[in-house]
Amino acid sequence: MNVTEDGDRGRRELRASALVGWPTYDSHVQLLRSGGDRNRGLILIAVGLALTIAVGALLRWQIWPSGVPSLSDGALSGVFDPQQLSDDRGYRRGLEIMAWIGVPLAPVVAIAVAATATRWRDRVLQLARGRVALAGALLGAALAGLTALVALPLAAARYAWIRDHGVGRQPLDSWLIDRLEGAAIQMVILAIAVAVVAASVHYLRRSWWLALGALVTLLAVGLTLLSPVLISPRFEQTRPLDNPALERDIRELADRAGVEVDEIVVTDASRRTRAFNARVEGLGATQRVVLSDTLMQGAPPAELRWVVAHELAHAKEGHLVKGVAWIAALAVPLALLVFGATGAMAGFARDEHGRARAEASLTRTAVALAVITTLTAISAPLSNTVSRAYEAEADWIALQLTGDPQAAIDFRVRTRERRRGAVDPPALIQLWFGTHPTSSQRVGLAQRFEKELGGS
Ligand SMILES: [Zn+2]
Repeated sequence: MNVTEDGDRGRRELRASALVGWPTYDSHVQLLRSGGDRNRGLILIAVGLALTIAVGALLRWQIWPSGVPSLSDGALSGVFDPQQLSDDRGYRRGLEIMAWIGVPLAPVVAIAVAATATRWRDRVLQLARGRVALAGALLGAALAGLTALVALPLAAARYAWIRDHGVGRQPLDSWLIDRLEGAAIQMVILAIAVAVVAASVHYLRRSWWLALGALVTLLAVGLTLLSPVLISPRFEQTRPLDNPALERDIRELADRAGVEVDEIVVTDASRRTRAFNARVEGLGATQRVVLSDTLMQGAPPAELRWVVAHELAHAKEGHLVKGVAWIAALAVPLALLVFGATGAMAGFARDEHGRARAEASLTRTAVALAVITTLTAISAPLSNTVSRAYEAEADWIALQLTGDPQAAIDFRVRTRERRRGAVDPPALIQLWFGTHPTSSQRVGLAQRFEKELGGS
């Protein structure tokens, strides 16, 4: 080994230690991480990535919508008011800037927590009386709380921006209570999840990535099933739909879609926002249609019918289940990638004992969380591409269910006016944040249907 190589390795150690927080060449580095760990980690990252791509391609082939025309911009002259569109440009620009500022927040917090592990892990382990799972729970709760705190100024700016432009209407105190409750729920969920991760890292040593994959799948399934039961009711009150004509209409649409609907309820969303909202939640015979009161008050029956048809189309095609299937299928390959990245930065488990082992496990858990948070943030364009495909399919099926493309177009115009949203947002904004096709594309889809209807 020559001097240059040694110097190189020293610099690499220094860089890695700056990231993970160990002084170079201190005993922890010797204990936790070797050059072999780094190479093994890189190989595992490559294998995890290759498997992720393979599974993604398989899903893209198997559960991707078929029979939906490819998206293209609609003929918009006479549809949207150009004056309004240009008046709202400043408002939208502000929202876009805030959205970009929000992207790195969670990863930066998680990386900072991982990088300072040497400074807090002793105290956290002490608080947890040496129990790694409990220390993990503390770490998870702290991470969620810290992230909410760091994101608060941006959330407040966004709240003020939306209110000042007449789009939002929630009073400040109720907004703050919602933020607090939301943060508390996040803290509980993350405390439980990170406790499991920390225990897996500690006890399963080199196979904890399998447990991580299982945990992510379980969380996705659990939150999808439980959020309508446990989380949504905390933020809204519902009452039965008191409109027999509309109820008949909705049940008839549901029959045509072959979707079972138990109850139809209306929320009190108007306390918070002017925006429209509708969803079908639950599974099988317990499914219910949820409409916001803003929608009931602000949209005429034909458009309401179209919105419900869109939601029923999601249920008909099982988009919720397919969404969970994506997460479940990708969880294990991605967990392998996280395992590799964690090993490369914080070393793989070896013969550590007692306190040193607990410290190492907690550090690895923090590094794994930083990797997961970063992966989640940068994969937004991919997950939103999947979401947009299913939304386009729901639109296309809703058009067939209602046979009313004009209602679809009218509703786009109405929604845009309420939210003062973009019809044709910048491509990068749409790629990163767009969960639905653009308004222009959705109008295009309705016009395409209209043309096919006229032609047949
Ligand atoms: Zn939808």
